[in-house]
Amino acid sequence: MHIHAPLKLAYSGKKCWRCRVRRVTKDASIHYGVCKGCYKALCEEQNAEDAKLWKINDRHRKKEWRKKWVKQIKTEERQPIDLFGNAKPSQIKYPRKTPEAEIQALIFGLLFHKGHDAHLEVCEAACRFDVVVFDDDKKAVIIVETKRSRELVDWEQLSRYRKTGVPVISISDLGEAVYFCKWFSKWFRER
Ligand SMILES: [Zn+2]
Repeated sequence: MHIHAPLKLAYSGKKCWRCRVRRVTKDASIHYGVCKGCYKALCEEQNAEDAKLWKINDRHRKKEWRKKWVKQIKTEERQPIDLFGNAKPSQIKYPRKTPEAEIQALIFGLLFHKGHDAHLEVCEAACRFDVVVFDDDKKAVIIVETKRSRELVDWEQLSRYRKTGVPVISISDLGEAVYFCKWFSKWFRER
């Protein structure tokens, strides 16, 4: 148990400074001059205070973000204009292909959402792995290499990556990525 309660050194009377009734705990990890019951109560008070502060902070942070986004969205500088100064539609063409980055982003997002510790573009020696998932001890448990299509899967690269001692799989489709993330949690638990 951890506490940031007001510190008071145990005085010679050895009575708890908070309730002034019970004796100060002998627990060496508690240096607050309080009894066990008061220690627990102080911890709970502190936790409640922390939670309240966190909530206020979080609300403030989110409000700042919203303000920034609205300001950025409204900014007129981005407006492409024609020769007559009239607003033109955007020049961005709709993408025709799924880039590798979208497959990686999807895997990262879905695994993150499930509470897995996934990372993109993990570098090790001369290798740069697209996705690596780590366990609670920060040990790599799987490497995922993504390609835009099945035909582009580089089998030689996969076997080179396996020399790390970590299993390596390839994913080359958004649908495959979604199903992988579903399947992965089960594999992770049973491995
Ligand atoms: Zn007490």
